[in-house]
Amino acid sequence: MIQTKGYATHDPSATFSPFEFERRDVGPNDILIDIEYAGICHSDIHLAKDEWHDLMPAMYPMVPGHEIVGRVTQVGDAVTKFSVGDVAGIGCFIDSCRECVACGFGVEQYCMNGMAMTYNGTEMDRTTPTYGGYSKHYVIDENYALKVTADGDLSGVAPLLCAGITTYSPLKKFGVGPGQRVGVVGLGGLGHMAVKIAKAMGAEVTVFSTSPGKAEDAGKLGADNFVVTSDPENLAPLANSFNLIIDTVSANHDLNPYINMVGLNGVLVVVGMPELPATIHQASLIMGNKSIAGSLIGGIAETQEMLDFCAEHGVVADVEVISPDRIEEAYDRTIKADVRYRFVIDMGRA
Ligand code: NAP
Ligand code: ZN
Ligand code: ZN
Repeated sequence: MIQTKGYATHDPSATFSPFEFERRDVGPNDILIDIEYAGICHSDIHLAKDEWHDLMPAMYPMVPGHEIVGRVTQVGDAVTKFSVGDVAGIGCFIDSCRECVACGFGVEQYCMNGMAMTYNGTEMDRTTPTYGGYSKHYVIDENYALKVTADGDLSGVAPLLCAGITTYSPLKKFGVGPGQRVGVVGLGGLGHMAVKIAKAMGAEVTVFSTSPGKAEDAGKLGADNFVVTSDPENLAPLANSFNLIIDTVSANHDLNPYINMVGLNGVLVVVGMPELPATIHQASLIMGNKSIAGSLIGGIAETQEMLDFCAEHGVVADVEVISPDRIEEAYDRTIKADVRYRFVIDMGRA
């Protein structure tokens, strides 16, 4: 077994302290990654605080982190995709059944037998607990690791492994491109990636935000328009005018104003997962043949496609790099929507 160190919370207080644990030895198909950066996704916060208790109960001790980049330091005998020294990434899951229809279609995140989550889950043996990227090392089957071709500063690449793929996947699925109007609700980790990726796909992008102070940043990120949502008068002129609106908001809020702004045959894609369910006015979907859709991260092949797309278009996350002793402060600021635009932990400082 390989001894390693992470940062764990032992209860929903989400108070982190150093945590020594073991990774498995490198098997024939495995790679060992020395983790350099781990992004802080709002899902880490929901899980650490056990806010998704009914859906995914928290398992403590919990080492969160599913936006991972690092350097490959060991490869198993049968490994073909990676060599020692390569940069590799890990996203939200580290294995799946490989047999079901979903796995067959390459959408392993919807594995019908349940994917193995990067943390707060178990390996496919259903007993060995998984610990995430707020740690020094990870051992993973090469088929579930991603190749990162970007080099240099990798801190902005880590968030692509969740925030990037979660926004890329539905934007691609619904055919976002030139001539299309895209709305992005919530300018946080996912939201700012949605802006960059939708712009790289050629769309006109409008940000919907509760934070007037983010207007200038939205422009710098590439957004064409910025709308403060607290005043309904700002939204009225935009009725029926978007091809797609992607809602990345982490807190409970009303979806109906956004359905109203989706245009004929358009779609509201929800990726934010607040604690409580939302209420939808059926009429606002019916009048205009509108759809509402959900989307969960992306499969391994599509995550690789997204990384290659981002490398080609020079898209990385805007990050604030922190040392591991500042995780709680980063959680507090993320909850207050004071994140510009992703906290990333420098695991080299662990
Ligand atoms: P984040 O960085 O905290 O961003 C969320 C943004 O939502 C905030 O920056 C803020 O933007 C807005 N917001 C916060 N509180 C609000 C409120 N009370 N009313 C309206 N807007 C509010 O979070 P994230 O990491 O991007 O994650 C966002 C959500 O997506 C979380 O629920 C997370 O669990 C979920 N998620 C889902 C998937 C998936 O596969 N579907 C993957 C990853 C994450 P403004 O300041 O601009 O208003
Ligand atoms: Zn995430
Ligand atoms: Zn499966």
